Amino acid sequence: MKIADCRVIVTCPGRNFVTLKIETDEGVTGIGDATLNGRELAVATYLTEHVVPALTGRDPARIEDTWQYLYKGAYWRRGPVTMSAIAAVDMALWDIKGKVAGLPVYQLLGGRSRDGVTVYGHANAETVDEVLTEVDRYVQLGYRAVRVQTGVPGLATTYGVSKDRLFYEPADAAVASEATWDTASYLAHTPGVFARVRDAFGPGLKLLHDVHHRLTPIEAARLGKSLEPYALTWMEDPVPAELQQGFRLIRQHTTTPVAVGEVFNTVWDCQQLITEQLIDYVRTTVVHAGGITHLRRIFDLAALYQVRSGSHGATDLSPVSMAAALHVDLAIPNFGLQEYMRHTEETDAVFPHGYRFENGYLHPGEQPGLGVDIDEEAAARYPYRPKALPVNRLVDGTLHDW
Ligand SMILES: [Mg+2]
Repeated sequence: MKIADCRVIVTCPGRNFVTLKIETDEGVTGIGDATLNGRELAVATYLTEHVVPALTGRDPARIEDTWQYLYKGAYWRRGPVTMSAIAAVDMALWDIKGKVAGLPVYQLLGGRSRDGVTVYGHANAETVDEVLTEVDRYVQLGYRAVRVQTGVPGLATTYGVSKDRLFYEPADAAVASEATWDTASYLAHTPGVFARVRDAFGPGLKLLHDVHHRLTPIEAARLGKSLEPYALTWMEDPVPAELQQGFRLIRQHTTTPVAVGEVFNTVWDCQQLITEQLIDYVRTTVVHAGGITHLRRIFDLAALYQVRSGSHGATDLSPVSMAAALHVDLAIPNFGLQEYMRHTEETDAVFPHGYRFENGYLHPGEQPGLGVDIDEEAAARYPYRPKALPVNRLVDGTLHDW
């Protein structure tokens, strides 16, 4: 079997997605996600100009060799554009291998280690009273874990708080919108939110919170300490993670578990975080970190150090990535949690898929391969629209982390 043809499909059914479709000379096809929120066309061009020409004629069964060829062969290693492009190829090749074998991909990864993949949803609202209603909505839907975000008094907008509750999409304008941030107000407000939520829902519900890289290590340590009475499952992205040793300071001061990694591209971005046990969950995604092949390598390293997976699963990943993530989640021994934001009806129609939500768990389904497809006619009805993520400034105008 040989790779006969590849094409890059860009579509915007509510938000932009980049998909690679690989066709073989024997008629078996595979698809992979290459979506990089706000920088979609950079990956689409990388694939079209630099990857697709090298794939034609290759044996699709050689997944590891193709991964090494694209990683080492580029000379320029790592980075979100390169690693998202490699991820798309890797996912598509696993999809083909599963279809050829007649098995869902999780069976090729060693079979299932659990009955279902525990997911968490996003409860968000401007006020604490409103967020209690939102948490309850997820509890009624069957969720066992909920991320809680509220507005901060005095700030016009806050990360993670949306108008459209189930379908939050921050990349909402062609030119980046600007938000304002004030750390002191946030630190004063947040513990009270979790006091109310924990009091209302009791100890059984897993609660999570995303700091979105906005604090310094000592501020994050203070937040973690103030949240200890409410037993969070994790505090996410407390500080920007370029400085891995910065997490030592957080660790020295709080027992609130730490999760990080949605912007990581390779194992080298979290090698110190994992081997020094500075985090509890690594949130790297299948699309931004080189696909199933490399994500499993990261999670295998993490398993040695009692660090669990907590994969990013926002709507900026297409259903192709969600399916690929679920196969990995089901198979690995050190699964923690999987983020699950629901896609819009339009997106689900463009990407018909076999995974399903049931009783707080996602299941990847039993279709051979990834169990997800792209309806190219439907995709063509939604042309690309430029969308940028917001930027963030302190009240004095200083550019801050968004
Ligand atoms: Mg996050």
